[in-house]
Amino acid sequence: MDVGSPHLASGALRRLDGRVAIVTGGSRGIGGAISKALAIDGAVVAVVGIPADRERTSVLQASLNGSAHLVEFHEANVADYQACETAVQSILEKHGHIDILVNNAGITKDRTARKMSVEEWQAVIDVNLSGPFFMIKAVLDHMIERQYGRIVNISSVVGHMGNFGQANYAAAKAGLLGLTKTLAIETAKSGITVNAVAPGFIATEMVAAMPQAAIDIAKSRTPVDRLGDPNEIARAVRFLVDEESGFITGTTFDVNGGMYM
Ligand code: NAP
Repeated sequence: MDVGSPHLASGALRRLDGRVAIVTGGSRGIGGAISKALAIDGAVVAVVGIPADRERTSVLQASLNGSAHLVEFHEANVADYQACETAVQSILEKHGHIDILVNNAGITKDRTARKMSVEEWQAVIDVNLSGPFFMIKAVLDHMIERQYGRIVNISSVVGHMGNFGQANYAAAKAGLLGLTKTLAIETAKSGITVNAVAPGFIATEMVAAMPQAAIDIAKSRTPVDRLGDPNEIARAVRFLVDEESGFITGTTFDVNGGMYM
């Protein structure tokens, strides 16, 4: 059977020239590394985030040596559906199309379930689970109309394993895997892929905020014996958003140093 295609000649990653990518919370940490990786490969990157991201996005743009690589800021709290829709519309008005959505923005509000307030539960579900759904909903009609899209949801090893003090976070990240698979099924015939990346413990401000004892435990449970680097997550995302990754959908790409297999 001939499965060859003029679009699948190289097997190598294609450049992302002409592609427009949204990265939520894309100005620092894992999101910053993803924005950088996509911009360096030629994509226009729209960082969607809350006001503190604006200045960091300018710094990120400057670190890429000016106009050859475009990273710009669009304000939206991903927990607010109307704000997501407004940001997506403004990106569409400016650039005409959106090819890639990376749902990266996330928060933690750690406490044992017994002590966790309803507000702490809800805040994490709103940002980490409803946020990705709202962003997907805001871009979906457009991607289906164009018959092309690459969506990546940043989940977590904690979504597979659970973690002491993270009932809200683990539930949101596990929910994201179900959302990923369902959306993958619903959009597969429209040229859209939907995948998750599940990082282990990565050296960002989110992990730096954890107690040192918890970081030490995480490291000791990681066979590779170190925290991951944000660029190691960006590399997995870059692979999944490639045009030639069109036969990969509904999957979870675990990048966790062997912590969960
Ligand atoms: P981070 O350094 O805390 O960055 C999170 C980003 O999300 C920030 O830019 C933040 O903006 C933004 N954000 C937070 N709430 C938002 C909202 N309501 N609307 C829009 N943007 C919002 O986190 P990270 O460590 O890079 O993590 C990135 C993603 O990877 C998260 O989804 C996280 O759960 C996941 N992850 C991280 C690890 C890890 O070990 N670091 C492991 C597994 C999964 P502000 O700075 O303005 O608040």
